[in-house]
Amino acid sequence: MGIIVENVSKQFGSFKAVDEVNIQIESGSLVALLGPSGSGKSTLLRLIAGLEMPDTGKIWLTGKDATYQSVQERNIGFVFQHYALFKHLTVRQNIAFGLDIRKASKAKIKGRVEELLELVQLGGLGDRYPSQLSGGQRQRVALARSLAVEPQVLLLDEPFGALDAKVRKDLRAWLRRLHDEVHVTTVFVTHDQEEAMEVSDKIVVMNKGKVEQIGTPAEIYDHPASAFVMSFIGPVN
Ligand code: ADP
Ligand code: MG
Repeated sequence: MGIIVENVSKQFGSFKAVDEVNIQIESGSLVALLGPSGSGKSTLLRLIAGLEMPDTGKIWLTGKDATYQSVQERNIGFVFQHYALFKHLTVRQNIAFGLDIRKASKAKIKGRVEELLELVQLGGLGDRYPSQLSGGQRQRVALARSLAVEPQVLLLDEPFGALDAKVRKDLRAWLRRLHDEVHVTTVFVTHDQEEAMEVSDKIVVMNKGKVEQIGTPAEIYDHPASAFVMSFIGPVN
């Protein structure tokens, strides 16, 4: 079981940021929330995380009603576009952070951190500080840090948004490979249709707080459900 968003709405003042959204996300899948700026993607992700409470509707995580669970109870990992690593901690110490505060044993932490360094292909860079890494390497450390505590759900809000085109492209392919190894249910926010097409099992196309279409990249590309989807997806080049 994965994530179910059931009839969820969220208003800021009189503005409906998320408007009666229904989505089912299969366990272990990688799903993109795709839409233009202001379409409600980040708000929806924050609702799934428990950083916002819905006005109406429910969020189900792995079969449990999580609507009123705290962020901690939801066992979720996050990576945001400008995810600050701790500057005064090494890569190893950054990755270990969540394990340290959970009081895991030293031996367990050490083993897990080495495993994660390999997983994000940063073996050998464990003793560097964030300032000694490239932007792409930093985002991989952020991913390793969020994976360290074995979350049941991983939420990524434009994690590669601030990076240049070439690095983004590499990280995209890398994220897909990582997901094929780890299989954690992942929801990925992007406004870049090419990124969504290349990386995800399913795409949720959003417009003005509503879901326009949900489908595989091929379904959405071949059979856009509305004029909006057609114009937003456009030809992939
Ligand atoms: P996206 O991530 O797709 O760009 P957001 O979910 O960030 O969209 O925002 C959707 C809309 O909701 C935007 O118009 C934004 O200004 C508004 N919004 C988001 N968060 C708040 C907030 N905390 N207070 C007021 N308006 C907000
Ligand atoms: Mg956003």
